[in-house]
Amino acid sequence: MKKITIAIDGHSSCGKSTMAKDLAREIGYIYVDSGAMYRACTLYAMQHELISADGTVRTAELEAQMPQVEVSFSLNPTSGQPDTYLNGECVEAAIRTMEVSNLVSHVAALPFVREAMTRLQQQMGEAGGIVMDGRDIGTAVFPHAELKFFVTASDEIRAQRRFDELKAKGQQPDFDAVLRNLRERDHIDSTRAVNPLRQADDALVLDNSHMTKDEQREWLLERFKERIAR
Ligand code: C5P
Repeated sequence: MKKITIAIDGHSSCGKSTMAKDLAREIGYIYVDSGAMYRACTLYAMQHELISADGTVRTAELEAQMPQVEVSFSLNPTSGQPDTYLNGECVEAAIRTMEVSNLVSHVAALPFVREAMTRLQQQMGEAGGIVMDGRDIGTAVFPHAELKFFVTASDEIRAQRRFDELKAKGQQPDFDAVLRNLRERDHIDSTRAVNPLRQADDALVLDNSHMTKDEQREWLLERFKERIAR
């Protein structure tokens, strides 16, 4: 059976990655976290002092160095999930901090960063059989994806989920800071000039505010089965 392309877009911290990962595992597809790629670019800018705490980027320098920013994934045999690598170094933990979250939307708004990451994402999805989550997957990266989802949930519920996730990782988040961060990221992501976050016309919308992970998994799987039965 031909393997299709599945795009999962939506607001920050609405559980897209978990849903995408679960679905990919269940149906034997590859999972790609496109947000991790923008986070890795942001970490690069931070490590090379090309971004200040307020999100101002030394654009010309970062653009000149983009060819040296190599982002890749490699399966972690312990977790069974792909880890993100930046120039050969595993940065999976380093890209999930609040510092990176606070700056990533500024880096992701830069046209040359989007161009490089979009190209890489399209290469990864060339053969189909992929579930990719992000902000512009169904609109810009794979506009012809056979199955598209747009996921959202209330701000407070998303902030609570993110807060719990960071705590579980041993970080000490502040709830209001987490809420502010996701609202700010949504705003920057939705209003940027290049490929802003928006719902694709042919996306199926899921508000998962009051759904368990199991309910979301089942709902997604049903939509997948319906789509491939067509
Ligand atoms: O998915 P995640 O929250 O890790 O994404 C981090 C950030 O990367 C987003 O807030 C957004 O600024 C950017 N991003 C993007 N386009 C994507 C995926 C993520 O601009 N396809």
